[in-house]
Amino acid sequence: MKILLVEDEEAIRGFVRINLKRADMEPVEAGSAEQALRLVAEQGPPDIALLDIMLPGLSGLELCSALREAYPEMGIIMLTAKSQEQDKIEALELGADDYIQKPFSPGELMARIRSLQRRMNIGAWRGPAPAAVAAPEAEGEAAAARTAAMPAPAEAEAHGAPAPSAAAPAPASVPASAAVRSGEPFRLAPGDRRLWKHDREIVLTPTEWSLVKLLLERRGQSVSRDEILSEVWGRYYVGDLKVVDVNIRRIRQKVEDDPSEPAIIETVWGFGYRWNRSDPG
Ligand code: CA
Repeated sequence: MKILLVEDEEAIRGFVRINLKRADMEPVEAGSAEQALRLVAEQGPPDIALLDIMLPGLSGLELCSALREAYPEMGIIMLTAKSQEQDKIEALELGADDYIQKPFSPGELMARIRSLQRRMNIGAWRGPAPAAVAAPEAEGEAAAARTAAMPAPAEAEAHGAPAPSAAAPAPASVPASAAVRSGEPFRLAPGDRRLWKHDREIVLTPTEWSLVKLLLERRGQSVSRDEILSEVWGRYYVGDLKVVDVNIRRIRQKVEDDPSEPAIIETVWGFGYRWNRSDPG
């Protein structure tokens, strides 16, 4: 599993690198968006990109936008500071799958990556437990990962918000069904993660695809935002219900005839969303 890590602070890069390697992942590092784009052009896209927002030159948001445009299937997680509330929303609007707020623990980092992996159908988690809950007797880098404190980001004040250190148990892998589910005019092929409206294929990000699959499989039923959050992002997700709304908005742009008057994905006020059973068209 190849992970592109774009971060200009060497201390944070080192912290993330140690934990990725410890989980048998292959980190590819860049200190700027420009360098990251060169790497991707030379080596091809990674499975997942971890993007710092505040970078010299092009910002992480601009990089997110460029990568999302070119690689809809790529997983993208933003690394943000607590003060960057608006940037988080903008990143989600640009198609990021998730964000992790600095300072984060190894356990949280790996839980977010694992949750995204699940959305990408890359397969069940096979790596060792995250460093925060690792077995003793680790040597060298691994031991450093277990004890190292998350370096404070230089561009923003460090916050002491406790990150969840208890690692979530690995979710059971759900075998993808090869059957095409049909809810005219939509057709969904879970096995290869594709969605069509009439004969037009709709290109979805890993997160959008998981959300569409959840709602379409339960057509006609209201699904609460809490349930969507836990089904799509994971039971132990520590985040904001806004990620649900932003992704619904992105999906509506793609599936609705008129996204300002949604008729396919209805809002159930104060509760959640429902994929309408009587699709127009
Ligand atoms: Ca930075």
